Amino acid sequence: MPTHPWKRDEEDVVIKIGRRTLEEIHAHAKSTYPEECCGLLIASSGSKEVVDSVKMRNAFSGPKHDRYHIDPLELFKADREVARRGLTIAGIYHSHPDYPATLSKFDLEHSFPWYSYVVVSVPKGEAGDTRSWLPSEERNSVTEEKIEVHDRMPEDKGVSLKA
Ligand SMILES: [Zn+2]
Repeated sequence: MPTHPWKRDEEDVVIKIGRRTLEEIHAHAKSTYPEECCGLLIASSGSKEVVDSVKMRNAFSGPKHDRYHIDPLELFKADREVARRGLTIAGIYHSHPDYPATLSKFDLEHSFPWYSYVVVSVPKGEAGDTRSWLPSEERNSVTEEKIEVHDRMPEDKGVSLKA
């Protein structure tokens, strides 16, 4: 089996996402087209089992068709709220209107290495290819993380952050 020096370990990395959550992310990506959307992937504590998502405001100050920015204070507040409910932020999702679902150099340079980055390609306004990426600690390379879509998450107890 080939090994890749940039991989964190020998095992394939996987992020599990509930189907309902993935559909919400796709709907968000379509609704903001042709601008990028962004939001948080909410997982059971200490896991990569995404049971919910939280929409965030794209706070990028320039044109938003190929950039997004999450306000650090809004991220901090969301993190505190998520932790209060016994959950954790496993990553950040955003969309690429009319662009592939790869992590751009800009994305990588502005990433937090402890998060998974799910990118949704939105060709012509339709949610398409969806891939997940893990930045290296130096933020100079990425590892693709396999997305497993689950109809029902093992630990999904119907918990929701939405009002
Ligand atoms: Zn991007």
